[in-house]
Amino acid sequence: MIIGSHVNFNTEQLLGSAKTAISYGANTFMFYTGAPQNTIRKDIDPNLTNEAFMYMKENGVDLKNVICHAPYIINLANREKEDSWNFSISFLKKELYRIKEMQVGYMVIHPGNALKIDRMTALQNIADALNNIIEDDLPMILLETMAGKGTECGINIYELKEILSKVEKKEKVGICLDTCHLNDSGIDIAKFDDYLSEFDQEIGLEHIFCIHVNDSKNPIGSHKDRHANLGYGTIGFDNLINVLYNPKLKDVPKILETPWVGEYPPYKLEIEMIKHKKFNPNLETDLKELYK
Ligand code: FE
Ligand code: FE
Ligand code: ZN
Repeated sequence: MIIGSHVNFNTEQLLGSAKTAISYGANTFMFYTGAPQNTIRKDIDPNLTNEAFMYMKENGVDLKNVICHAPYIINLANREKEDSWNFSISFLKKELYRIKEMQVGYMVIHPGNALKIDRMTALQNIADALNNIIEDDLPMILLETMAGKGTECGINIYELKEILSKVEKKEKVGICLDTCHLNDSGIDIAKFDDYLSEFDQEIGLEHIFCIHVNDSKNPIGSHKDRHANLGYGTIGFDNLINVLYNPKLKDVPKILETPWVGEYPPYKLEIEMIKHKKFNPNLETDLKELYK
């Protein structure tokens, strides 16, 4: 299984991210190139990048499974202020060039928020932006399935399909499933196979390049988007294990974006739970023991 979590991208850049991932027992990871809420970015240091490549090789992390996540401030869906829309486009493009310097192949984005415009126009705006951004030799963009909080776009198969149908270079855009978002958007993860067959019929499973594996703090269809630790939410451990071990998604990188437990990252113990297919009901006490 290709499994990891989101990790920091700090002063040691990709090398730091890789070190953190390895400390969790992961064989992949997802990172942001800077704070997800702002646009302040440092130059990529080629020495750190090369060190990261060596370190990853030694520790069994294949670069082709590493994922980046775009900052939240990017909104491709609303074009009422042409300047903000253009800023989102140019900033995302810059981020793609930055991760290309590190040979990272995938950038997950939230499709965007419609705000006050109608959803069909919003979906068209997203596709227009993508057609502006995509270049043959840039990394792929992965549209994340969203919970439907506020005016989020990409909240069902139909909307994702609609965006993809308007994209010119279809081979450069894929999908990232997020189990918490799916649950909150109204999908019952206990019937994940039904969802997958519908997805396969409408879009095609070969378009899935990443899965965010999170439990949810809220019931199906709540449109909330609050992640919970594996087995500590409404989706439940067994249903998430079924997603993680689904043979149709075997080669797709799985990324945990579950919340820290107090001051501790839960990922090492969650990855252990996944490997042993066994729920740990003492996550908090075991983490305190592990990191004391
Ligand atoms: Fe996301
Ligand atoms: Fe996610
Ligand atoms: Zn989320």
